[in-house]
Amino acid sequence: MSAMREMEKMAKINCRAINVKARHKEHVNGMSVRLIQYYLDYGKRDRLQSGLCKYCAYIGTDRVGGAAITKCNCDYCGIEMTFGNTCTDCFCAKCAVEIKHCKHCGQKLD
Ligand SMILES: [Zn+2]
Ligand SMILES: [Zn+2]
Repeated sequence: MSAMREMEKMAKINCRAINVKARHKEHVNGMSVRLIQYYLDYGKRDRLQSGLCKYCAYIGTDRVGGAAITKCNCDYCGIEMTFGNTCTDCFCAKCAVEIKHCKHCGQKLD
């Protein structure tokens, strides 16, 4: 392999390594911020008002669901709810606050 080809190859490899490193760092930073928010729970009042448990509010924020308009009913009052993807909630926001269960995953709110 010529010296020129070798240099080009290494430049490409290094470029990819730098990009990956930046992406990893961003991911780790994002995770750290979420963990800190989770443990400090400074937004507790707002969180409880939106009917979300600590996990759903801070950790499970990028919910993966299929992209399809999905309808389901609140497990408590039965009102029909519409979601932009297949990742649906258990309760409507009103019931979640009223019965103190997370509207998304259904666990008890604290
Ligand atoms: Zn409801
Ligand atoms: Zn939850």
